[in-house]
Amino acid sequence: MKFSILAELMQRQQHPFRSRIHSVNRYHENRMAGTLQANGAQTLLIDADDTLWENNIYFERAIANFISFLNHRTYNSEQVREILNEVERENIVTHGYGLHSFAHALVATFERLSVDPVTPEMHERIHAIAHTIADHPVEFLPDVPATLQELSSRHHLIMMTKGAIAEQTGKVERSGLKDYFAAIEIVAEKDESTYRSVVAKYDLASDTTWMIGNSPKSDINPALAIGLNAVFIPHGNTWVLEHDEVTPPTPPTRLLTIEKFSQLRDHF
Ligand SMILES: [Mg+2]
Repeated sequence: MKFSILAELMQRQQHPFRSRIHSVNRYHENRMAGTLQANGAQTLLIDADDTLWENNIYFERAIANFISFLNHRTYNSEQVREILNEVERENIVTHGYGLHSFAHALVATFERLSVDPVTPEMHERIHAIAHTIADHPVEFLPDVPATLQELSSRHHLIMMTKGAIAEQTGKVERSGLKDYFAAIEIVAEKDESTYRSVVAKYDLASDTTWMIGNSPKSDINPALAIGLNAVFIPHGNTWVLEHDEVTPPTPPTRLLTIEKFSQLRDHF
């Protein structure tokens, strides 16, 4: 029995299919080195939150829960929301992105608006509201896994997401999408200097590199500003702090706007 399996394995080793697999691997290595750019292989830097999977909707739900918990007598929900946005904006500078920062912002907003001091019990309840987000399973936007599978057979994909490392790593692991990417970059901020570092790290050529995402502020404008091409895929529920006008690129830098992630297949 053992011998026959061994024989079968040896046969497979010599089967033409094996060499096809090898050539696929060589193709992949060459592609990463940029030697097949002439054949149309490009580097696609792809955002994750609200591009590959839902994210902001969970924060919106938590904020709605927080506003009803606060139950403010004089401020309506829009006014509370404006104060929270302001606190979050300040908070990012010191606490960065992610759940810890979000929980901190909710507590700070509560302290700013509540006449009574925040008791340890209230503090705990606010943290619990923020942390309901952590338990959420990954929900893909339509056709994301199939589209990535197809794109990864033709192009060099790098995931580029900002946030707390442990949280973003956890989502990447749970998504099961990791194998479609040649690399995963989790960064603290997505600004021009971050994009420049990534370009230098992977030795990317601007004319064949695209940043793909839902945020004008983090994905599109800084990438275009350093001469990368970009694909804007607006999400109906993008975090208000990510809102910005898309700055039209200066040729030869290109900008595409599409409605759905799956439409990337028509362009790449
Ligand atoms: Mg995003």
